[in-house]
Amino acid sequence: MSTSPVRQLPSDSPITPAPADEPIRHLKPPVDPEDLEHRRVRRDEFWRQIPAWKDVDHETFASYDWQEKNAITSPKKLVASVRELVSPSFIEDVETGFSLAPMAVRISPYLLSLIDWSDPVHDPIRRQFLPLASEIEPDHPMLTLDSLHEQGDAPVPGLTHRYPDKALFLALDTCPVYCRFCTRSYAVGIDTDSVEKVSLKADVARWQQAFRYMRERPELEDVVVSGGDAYRLKPQQLLEIGHTLLDIPQIRRFRFATKGIAVVPMRIKPGDPWTEALTEIVERGRKLGKEVVVHTHFNHANEATGFSQDAARVLFERGIYVRNQTVLQRGVNDSPDDQILLARRLSYLNVHPYYVYVHDLVKGVETLRTTVATAIRLEKRLRGSQAGYNTPTFVVDALGGGGKRDAHSFEYYDQETGISVYTAPAVKEGRLFTYFDPLAELSPHMRAAWLDDKRRHEMIHDALTKARQEVI
Ligand SMILES: *Cc1c(COP(=O)(O)O)cnc(C)c1O
Ligand code: SF4
Repeated sequence: MSTSPVRQLPSDSPITPAPADEPIRHLKPPVDPEDLEHRRVRRDEFWRQIPAWKDVDHETFASYDWQEKNAITSPKKLVASVRELVSPSFIEDVETGFSLAPMAVRISPYLLSLIDWSDPVHDPIRRQFLPLASEIEPDHPMLTLDSLHEQGDAPVPGLTHRYPDKALFLALDTCPVYCRFCTRSYAVGIDTDSVEKVSLKADVARWQQAFRYMRERPELEDVVVSGGDAYRLKPQQLLEIGHTLLDIPQIRRFRFATKGIAVVPMRIKPGDPWTEALTEIVERGRKLGKEVVVHTHFNHANEATGFSQDAARVLFERGIYVRNQTVLQRGVNDSPDDQILLARRLSYLNVHPYYVYVHDLVKGVETLRTTVATAIRLEKRLRGSQAGYNTPTFVVDALGGGGKRDAHSFEYYDQETGISVYTAPAVKEGRLFTYFDPLAELSPHMRAAWLDDKRRHEMIHDALTKARQEVI
């Protein structure tokens, strides 16, 4: 290393340190701590607003067993628990909403009591879990039940192998809560009036088949263990899956996907058998030089309370890395303020924002979808608002199995028709994949065009032709 003479700064340079007794000159005013909302994590007894739980103390509410025992699994139970807090017309709206919904009902007491029951219509948690008949929009004409082609890309039931080096293992079909917007409504939860589900139960024979396939694929290094939700695996099952994957030499990394931390964080505690099983797998993985992490699913900052902070702290202390995947939803988290607050609060909890998904085409929840243009606007606004590793990537999971694409990386996008076209060279070389913005966000003239079979086909054909010209 060569040394160079120290350059003397002129005495009026701002880089010259001020004498200790002089005030430091700030370039911009310090932020008012009141404005650092992401740090104001709720620790009040919010559940007492629900009449049936007004006498439940903190210790009881903080018990996972109590949360499980009091989970709300029918529209009737749900309505009964909040009837005194809302208007009769709201109740009627929810009851009709549920009768039309393709998803099974399950919501934790934790989530139910985080809803602002003085204004449930606009509440972001209500909107994700309780359908209102008055909000329903007709499904998009291009919707199919398994729009991501997960079953078509599955060599054995419940194992989707789409990307070269990674696979998605759907170990079970139940969850701690059921989300209206779930992409896997084709399999997750019990059958409803409108959907007869594909069976992906936690079944050892099915798992064995998946493990056999994985052993036979030398290129497979990365597995997503999902479902359903890994929170509902029994600790013994978590150990069985974890140890089996750790024993497959070529598998270097895997993740357990669970919404648990966001919806019933009370399970993540020292001494809880599930938490201990997870820790055992992560620690054995670390000794083998293999990465085992948790992927969770917060959609709104309101879901991250003191309970989440305590859970995230336990995982952090044990060196268990947590990433977050969010589903972008209209009227839930589609404003810059919502997304920035969420990303900042998660960062504050040491949960890393990883992806924000543009909402898939899912039956019965058109009202929650938004446009690719919205995702791109948010992406621009977020980049730079916190550390790069805490800045989520906005992705579109392309219809028909193209996989995740950066929202802005389309070959073609027409905001007027709402058609975007993507390529996925690493996944399916030479093919084009489409995504369609919700009709409600298009002009009335365009909505009419979509409902006309002939014009719809022409628009899609036209978009594909233009995209092909771009690619070449
Ligand atoms: C999302 C997904 C994965 C994991 O993808 P990452 O980009 O690594 O998070 C793997 N397989 C399938 C089928 C998926 O949908
Ligand atoms: S927890 Fe995940 S898999 Fe289960 S219903 Fe919600 S989005 Fe679907």
